[in-house]
Amino acid sequence: MFQYIVDYFNSISWTHPATISFFIIIAAFTTFSILERLFPYQKGLPYFRKGWYIDVIWYTFIQSYIMGIIIFSLIIGPVREALNLGDTGLLSHWPLWALILFFFVTHDLYIYWFHRWQHHNKFLWRTHEAHHSVEQVDFVAGSRSHMVEILINQTIEFAPIILLLDPVTGIQVKFIKASIDAVYGQFIHSNLNVKLGWFGYVFNGPRLHQWHHGDQVEVYHANFATKLSLWDYLFGTVYNPDRKPERYGVWYRFPRDWFAQHFFSVYRFNVSKVENEPALKWYFNFRVNLIKLFFKGWKKIFGFRLNKRRLVDGEIYGPKPELSEFNY
Ligand SMILES: [Zn+2]
Ligand SMILES: [Zn+2]
Repeated sequence: MFQYIVDYFNSISWTHPATISFFIIIAAFTTFSILERLFPYQKGLPYFRKGWYIDVIWYTFIQSYIMGIIIFSLIIGPVREALNLGDTGLLSHWPLWALILFFFVTHDLYIYWFHRWQHHNKFLWRTHEAHHSVEQVDFVAGSRSHMVEILINQTIEFAPIILLLDPVTGIQVKFIKASIDAVYGQFIHSNLNVKLGWFGYVFNGPRLHQWHHGDQVEVYHANFATKLSLWDYLFGTVYNPDRKPERYGVWYRFPRDWFAQHFFSVYRFNVSKVENEPALKWYFNFRVNLIKLFFKGWKKIFGFRLNKRRLVDGEIYGPKPELSEFNY
């Protein structure tokens, strides 16, 4: 067993873009975990907030893994093969910085318009509502995206990179771009009290995107930008008042489970009724009890609580804090 672990670590290529990208994302995760505790935008937001488990385990790990296989191995890879591109790349002679800048700006402009369309079209809204269903927005919240939304956006994002570049440069640019996406996504969703000053007219930050997640009529059609807030200023869709959102999430009852969230996007059902079904209740309780058991065990072994849960005090950060993941 021990030898197996040693062999596994020896087989890792530490300089491969995928490995570097993984560590960058872990470092960002750790940094935002600390910064959010120190400089919160909405005070009192618990670390293990409602839906945290779903967002980390299901959306960040399981779904990302599956979507990676679908997008790269089943769609873009075969297309590249069919086009017989071999080792060639139309844009391979460009310097790396120019490639990153080019793909960064063009994809960001695309995603601004697609995002805006998702808010205007009732069918596309079904692929985006899950992203808006988080009621306590923190840096993890950005990972909650419907599978179809990921399929469309990431195929459009990465197909040009893989098809216009030779395989070596393509992989490099892919992982640099994916790392920027992950870290920037964590940043704009983070519950961080930062003011970007003049930078804010070009680069997006938590203030504008926290407002985008507000369940308030004034922002249902505003702040569509992902990385460059420039688009919102340019196309007249920016909303940046001097106060904070009072509510987050969607205006209707939304399922709390990954499977149910996807099913709900194609077939509307009575959420309260279904979540009270004995079989599903068992599923929810089993999961929550398992987490509770972990925290109880932790306290027993290490002598202190890991999940210090704070209740609402003063500022409002969500409409139903009593429905916290560990409390139902
Ligand atoms: Zn949106
Ligand atoms: Zn968002």
